[in-house]
Amino acid sequence: MFEVVIGLEVHVQLNTNTKLFCSCPTSFNHTQNSNTCPTCLALPGALPVLNQEVLRKAVMFGTAIDATINRTSYFDRKSYFYPDSPSAYQITQLYTPVVEHGHLEIDFEDGSHKRIRINRAHIEADAGKNIHEGAISKVDLNRAGTPLLEIVSEPDMRSAEEAILYLKKLHSIVRYIDISDANMQEGSFRCDVNVSIRPKGDEKLYTRVEIKNINSFRFIQKAIEVEVERQIDAWEDGIYDEEIVQETRLFDQVKQETRSMRGKEEAADYRYFPEPDLLKAVVSDAMYTEATQIPELPDEKRARLVKEYDMREYDASVITAELETAHYFEAMLEEGISAKNAVTWLTVELPARLKGGMGVAECPVNAKTLGTIVKRIEDDTISGKAAKEVLDYLMEHDATVDDAIDTLGLKQVSDTGAIEAIVDEILAANAEKVAEYRSGKDKLFGFFVGQTMKASKGSANPQAVNEVLKQKLS
Ligand code: ADP
Ligand code: MG
Ligand code: ZN
Repeated sequence: MFEVVIGLEVHVQLNTNTKLFCSCPTSFNHTQNSNTCPTCLALPGALPVLNQEVLRKAVMFGTAIDATINRTSYFDRKSYFYPDSPSAYQITQLYTPVVEHGHLEIDFEDGSHKRIRINRAHIEADAGKNIHEGAISKVDLNRAGTPLLEIVSEPDMRSAEEAILYLKKLHSIVRYIDISDANMQEGSFRCDVNVSIRPKGDEKLYTRVEIKNINSFRFIQKAIEVEVERQIDAWEDGIYDEEIVQETRLFDQVKQETRSMRGKEEAADYRYFPEPDLLKAVVSDAMYTEATQIPELPDEKRARLVKEYDMREYDASVITAELETAHYFEAMLEEGISAKNAVTWLTVELPARLKGGMGVAECPVNAKTLGTIVKRIEDDTISGKAAKEVLDYLMEHDATVDDAIDTLGLKQVSDTGAIEAIVDEILAANAEKVAEYRSGKDKLFGFFVGQTMKASKGSANPQAVNEVLKQKLS
């Protein structure tokens, strides 16, 4: 039997206004090569200057994962030649990164947790982009010099599922502390996956394969699964040593397989050396004090919700996993509704109506509106069933909750006078059954409730109906 061993390297694009070593804007969708200057174009004589915001955000991250923060860290040059890097080297932190030895907890559905250690997080500069158009290739350097935080885990994950839980928690953390928008489609949260297998019980690490640039959780999961299968097959066929070599592979989404891209460079190939153009990065006392005051983290928020609202741990996990959902929930509560109802409508009813990967943030029904719908159930204006119709309607139409209730004619009748009139009719039309009920056939009560509800076209408040019937039948 085999054990799967996974370590992840995640590149998070930090959401600073300007680049890592120059004052060019980091915003994109600009004309190609317009957000550039002598520094990020690596023109001779231009010197880099560290953006202090980047350092501050790195310290915030280190605090969030309970890591050692190196108050003095250094930059190094990693040499490689590729058209999207005009300097032919990348400035990174090899020997002394700003953040070391942290960890985070992943949460399983059964409520158990596992600690994943994070070896380091270091600051580095992003490259530009090569754009291939038919026979022509172009280089756009707008992204060159954008600040990245590379977060390197220990090889602590034992399945594709654990890898995805780790990535989701990491994604959640960087969004909570607002150091990155972490948009996977736009490439501001990119992941390289290192995978190996070993016989169960074996302590040593076997040859790892690195799978690069997979841009969705679903594809990462799939890439790991097919790569593990390839390695196990090779082992069982007795060709592990020939087939499984340390290399970089690509995941082919169409063929659902990984393919060799290039042999793995050894550190020596990069000719690392200390960056001579930059001073050491020093976290001042003032910066340290400020950056270590981070906002509430997902795990803390989860614990608080469990305690404050007596919520199930699992519900709290669902609500706190993404910052948007947590904010949506808190905004719903501002309508003065119960947390229990808010949870149900936010985690069951709303997702059932969100199509095509739409998140709560893009949902046409905002938190205040959904909160108001729930409020109208709680104040007996509408039934729970009617509320679902109201929500359906508001997913398609721009209207207030109360207008939607009017338009759909869903207002509950709680006015006892109106209900009494209906009940009187029902009882008069069913004199025989009334007699049977009074002589002890209690079960008939349900029949009268049903008839009354039907006669009111479902608009009568069931509780009021019950009370009126009890009184009239006694
Ligand atoms: P590099 O920078 O050359 O990619 P690192 O030593 O920084 O190498 O490791 C990169 C990642 O690979 C880390 O996340 C680490 O946990 C993971 N890793 C190392 N060895 C293994 C292995 N045998 N199996 C799976 N992952 C591994
Ligand atoms: Mg690597
Ligand atoms: Zn620049």
